[in-house]
Amino acid sequence: MNNNIDFIKETTSNYELEYGVKIPPIDITPEDIVNNDVAYFEGRELYNGIYNLHVDISKLMKSRDHGEVIIYHELTHLLDSQKLVDVSNSYEDFRNKILSYSEFHASEIEMAKRLEEIKESVNRYSRIQYDGRKISIDDFMSKTTKFVAEAFDNLNFNSGFGSQIVRLFYLLGYTSALKKVNFQYNPDFRKINPLYRQHCKNLKQLLLTDDACDVDVIASEFMDMFNIFVTTK
Ligand SMILES: [Zn+2]
Repeated sequence: MNNNIDFIKETTSNYELEYGVKIPPIDITPEDIVNNDVAYFEGRELYNGIYNLHVDISKLMKSRDHGEVIIYHELTHLLDSQKLVDVSNSYEDFRNKILSYSEFHASEIEMAKRLEEIKESVNRYSRIQYDGRKISIDDFMSKTTKFVAEAFDNLNFNSGFGSQIVRLFYLLGYTSALKKVNFQYNPDFRKINPLYRQHCKNLKQLLLTDDACDVDVIASEFMDMFNIFVTTK
């Protein structure tokens, strides 16, 4: 167990060096996570400035590089939360920004970490980390796109609206990281439920731009999708 805690601490130091940031001390709470998550910060805790990383050690340590990409994703949420608290007028507002903008940003940083190990120029056959094994970028992105379409077709309250819609923000974050290494990927929304398709296109336009994005506008697109879900279910 101590080795695993050391691994998390070492990865945190690497993140600080790589991005020139200071990460506050983090508590690590090992637990068995029953859903697909490997690690998470709880929204309320982040909102209150409590940095407690809940982590399923056996899932995290499937492989070292898998563990690293997960930790990079989570640390980005922590840093985003410090900024988003200041521009949120309630916990709900904060949570919507974490589930939209911050999921995009965390996925972008996560994909950038995956891409570091590719030594040549990135192409569709380049192999990257996926759940403890290596697959091509093509396979990675088509799996992610399929997950997004499935999420919009199977929205329900029990599995948490936010935890399904976030997949769209993962897809856009990955796409943005690829764009930064000059690999143009064009997310295909033709299989997305028509009720939500226009919002997906709006978010693609808002997030995949070189200009700074407005976190309030991103969160309101997220809320629009939530409202469609509530009124049509
Ligand atoms: Zn996340």
